[in-house]
Amino acid sequence: MNDSDAENSPDPQGSGTPQFVPAAANTPVAAVNSSPDAGFASGQATSAYCPSCGKPVVDSAVICPGCGTPLASSRNKTVAVLLAVFLSFWTWLYTYQRDKQKFWMGLGLAILGVITSFFIIGDFILFGVWVWAIVSTAARPERDYLMYPKTV
Ligand SMILES: [Zn+2]
Repeated sequence: MNDSDAENSPDPQGSGTPQFVPAAANTPVAAVNSSPDAGFASGQATSAYCPSCGKPVVDSAVICPGCGTPLASSRNKTVAVLLAVFLSFWTWLYTYQRDKQKFWMGLGLAILGVITSFFIIGDFILFGVWVWAIVSTAARPERDYLMYPKTV
């Protein structure tokens, strides 16, 4: 006997890829918590489903309120640190949603460093930005990378 027909329940969403509803991107954040009974399953944009427990979750959720599974598109800490080692502040493009300010500050300092590279100070600036990028990416807890905000 060979049970070749495993009974997989049909997936209504297809392949399990989260489908993003464009309208959800324009939902004002202020709407959250506007009414006391606005549970996570009603009222708010529920364009995604928890891959672990299957409950509908709000688009902005980084963690499932039902089972605690991280829902956000995660980033890899090792990749972030390696990017910092090899590309300095450019690693913050990888985690741009979190490190927007660091990236632009790093870029500005790097430009300043290149401009002033005639003097020794420019090299110090570039070196400082490089060290800053490595320390910053390495010091961030793994958990913050896993719970990286979902990009829509
Ligand atoms: Zn869940």
